[in-house]
Amino acid sequence: MNEQLDVARREDTLLNSTRPGVRARIDPSRDKQVPHRIVVVGGGAAGLELATGLGNRLGRRGRAEIALVDSARTHLWKPLLHEVAAGSLEVGEYELNYLAQAHWHHFHYRLGAMAGLDRTKKEVRLAATFDDEGREITPPRAVGYDTLVIAIGSVTNDFGTPGVAEHAVPLETVAQAARFNQRLVNACVRAQSQPGPVRPGQLHVAIVGAGATGTELAAELHRTIREVVGYGLDRIDLERDIRIVLIEAANRILPGLPERISKSTHRLLDKMGIEVRTGAKVMEVTAEEVKLADGALVPAELVVWAAGVRAPRVLRDLDGLEINRINQLVVEPTLKTTRDPDIFAIGDCAACPRPGAAGIVPPRAQAAHQEAAHMLRQIERRLRGRPLQPYKYRDFGSLVSLGRWSTVGNLMGFVSGRGLFIEGLFAKLMYRSLRLMHEQALHGTMSAGFAAVARALSRRTSPPVKLH
Ligand SMILES: Cc1cc2nc3c(=O)[nH]c(=O)nc-3n(C[C@H](O)[C@H](O)[C@H](O)COP(=O)(O)OP(=O)(O)OC[C@H]3O[C@@H](n4cnc5c(N)ncnc54)[C@H](O)[C@@H]3O)c2cc1C
Repeated sequence: MNEQLDVARREDTLLNSTRPGVRARIDPSRDKQVPHRIVVVGGGAAGLELATGLGNRLGRRGRAEIALVDSARTHLWKPLLHEVAAGSLEVGEYELNYLAQAHWHHFHYRLGAMAGLDRTKKEVRLAATFDDEGREITPPRAVGYDTLVIAIGSVTNDFGTPGVAEHAVPLETVAQAARFNQRLVNACVRAQSQPGPVRPGQLHVAIVGAGATGTELAAELHRTIREVVGYGLDRIDLERDIRIVLIEAANRILPGLPERISKSTHRLLDKMGIEVRTGAKVMEVTAEEVKLADGALVPAELVVWAAGVRAPRVLRDLDGLEINRINQLVVEPTLKTTRDPDIFAIGDCAACPRPGAAGIVPPRAQAAHQEAAHMLRQIERRLRGRPLQPYKYRDFGSLVSLGRWSTVGNLMGFVSGRGLFIEGLFAKLMYRSLRLMHEQALHGTMSAGFAAVARALSRRTSPPVKLH
């Protein structure tokens, strides 16, 4: 008993200390001081940047022990997924292996999906993982933390629409994006080799949701389908057989962006021959068509669901943490969850208020990047016993890539607070800069620069579209 009190007293002393880098804990089982354990769950746009930064700043010098948990083994920056679906991006060139990244940047990687949380024991529960043959790789296990950051992103919200789960493909993971691309290439090869003519709808693609994801996918597909067919699939008539339809429930495409971007993007899609249906609510998806609320039927055997997001279901029951109506963890401006001072949330799965502005921080890559950088500074402050600072979202503008046709968007002017409309090459460069910022956070400036040059050179020697 005395021994326990002694340990608790020493632990208190350490926790109340304000000396830099000494926020360690006493491990009662070993009766010795061990580094503070920081666990980041979810290695996406936000979590991987954070784990890498923590590893470089704290893990390298043993000032903290950092672990990253992810249900996947590799990371691909999500805004690239529409290019995977369209077949214009070679995944291997961009994906990053968590185990290697952890080794290079002084953190540990734990494979597994977070399945629950025990706040009293300060443990994240991970589900078992299995290989393709059903053999267990890792058993169900618990990972202990002193500071926990949850960054498990968002998933597509199908709003319970019948037929979506069975017939539409969402774009949340590399596997799903690759699956859609396989379906597309297979549909073209099938149409080429089948005895009869191409059926109406057989090579039609319906994309539900005209946010940035759906709109960018429509434009990218417009080019890649033509390229696939151009590789000798001469029984397919591009004008007659191929159709891309973008369906949006709101009364304009890109409803979350300024109207000017929406209008000029719409004009460009019209020029490309992409059919846009706004004010169109989807009621059901079947194997052959999409049924709309006004009774119209859109024939399409290839359907992508890109409408709406919500946070993963596992957040609904995380030992009493507060969530909002779409399962996001409610956080204070400091990114700390409202009911536990040791648990934080960043990225799409966090509902973070915007002091002085309406609504919450939007689920976007630039917010994930900013929150990861802010969280890194806050964890350092926390370890030094300093008070946490609030995060303020800075909207640098929005850009939409229409493949090789154009890029349109706006850049926010911080002096005037007004957006500057941009289009073409400059917009394209700005669009790429967001990804480069992510790569810079993961690899450093030099390596990110070399990788970009190497990719640009290798692209000249490979087909511009994936054919298998
Ligand atoms: C196709 C597409 C295009 C987009 N384009 C743009 C764009 O152009 N501009 C823009 O600003 N935003 C864009 N976004 C949104 C942007 O990608 C997200 O806002 C951003 O990725 C959010 O980062 P995050 O770290 O919160 O989540 P993510 O990047 O989604 O990462 C979540 C991570 O958590 C892991 N994970 C999930 N569940 C669990 C679990 N239970 N246990 C352990 N790990 C788990 C996942 O494997 C993943 O690695 C796009 C999104 C998509 C899908």
